[in-house]
Amino acid sequence: MARIFDYMRRYGHKKLVMCNDADSGLRAVVAIHSTHLGPAAGGLRMWPYASEEDAILDALRLARGMTYKYAAAGVNLGGGKAVIIGDPKRDKNEALLRAFGRFVDQLGGEYITGEDVGTTLSEMEIIFTETNHIVTLPTHCGGAGDIAPATAQGCIAATKACAKRVWGTDELRGRRFTLQGLGAVGYNALRLLVKEGAQGIVTDIDPQKVDSAVQEFDVAAVAPDKIYGQDVDIFAPYALGAVINDETISQLRAKIVVGSANNIFAEERHGDELERRGIVYAVDYVANSGGTIFDTDRLRKGGFQPARAWANVNKIYDRIEEVFALADRDHIPFYTAADRLAEQRIASLKSVRLLDPAGLPG
Ligand code: NAD
Repeated sequence: MARIFDYMRRYGHKKLVMCNDADSGLRAVVAIHSTHLGPAAGGLRMWPYASEEDAILDALRLARGMTYKYAAAGVNLGGGKAVIIGDPKRDKNEALLRAFGRFVDQLGGEYITGEDVGTTLSEMEIIFTETNHIVTLPTHCGGAGDIAPATAQGCIAATKACAKRVWGTDELRGRRFTLQGLGAVGYNALRLLVKEGAQGIVTDIDPQKVDSAVQEFDVAAVAPDKIYGQDVDIFAPYALGAVINDETISQLRAKIVVGSANNIFAEERHGDELERRGIVYAVDYVANSGGTIFDTDRLRKGGFQPARAWANVNKIYDRIEEVFALADRDHIPFYTAADRLAEQRIASLKSVRLLDPAGLPG
């Protein structure tokens, strides 16, 4: 326990709730990092954690990440996260999800849940039977539905902001890119990049996805380990984290790194090294916040409004430019500048009573 309180004190977490339901077998943790900007929101992860402490620390770590993500995205929500301890393939059932929904409801809106690793959009509908404090929902429940297209759109806005910085124009026509990971977000991003007139080389560990991309778009394909060394302008990671590491960094020939993958640096020093090499990158949690901006629109006045949601996703362009401006002004790395922007927003708004949850200022 001492380790957990130490962690919460070090990073300023507000609350940790342990949920136990003997009938359904539910063992869940809700971590609330901050409610300064609004109710704490963040997805529900289900994972067969090796220990209860691992589950708690994961929830605490992820909740803090959500605080920064919402603050940097201009969304008036705090950071939270929930985890269910269990194997999503074996242990998940309606009773367990509904029991979780009841716990969320009892928190009275201090925590708002959603989809994450190990849970699906259709399961959110089951949780929705027990609580209205839920953000990711299918369209027939009043939610935004699939958010991958919005995440992809936000990443392309970020790509354009990076292009503007490097080449003085955000025109992507004729720019060459490599795209790693043709999943839900990557495939949508590929469509948008091709539509912009950029020329691509793609990869995925799933050969069927590569075949589909090559057939649908005029793109080339390479083996997964050959994606780093290609002679291109933009490297677009849409698969996993830690892809910028000691092994890959020296292979990169691109001037820009931007994609949806979270935590792309194996270690923080790889971010510094990228900048030392003059490579511009869009900080992951700012670039990939499009889905978050899109689905939290449902919490705003009037419920989900697609036109407003898309307009706010496109503002990621401006947010990336703000990160660049702060980094230039204070001579700090982009990832530090993004954290500072988020912290400044929380500090300046924490005493203001926000009337429009999830609303963007202005
Ligand atoms: P996904 O699982 O649908 O797609 C990931 C793709 O990467 C899969 O096609 C997989 O086969 C491929 N892949 C895995 N390892 C690979 C490797 N070594 N080389 C090449 N390809 C590999 O996931 P997604 O929802 O598209 O998310 C992609 C990334 O973006 C993840 O890191 C995720 O955390 C992040 N992200 C997603 C969203 C969203 O809206 N889905 C939002 C924010 C961040």
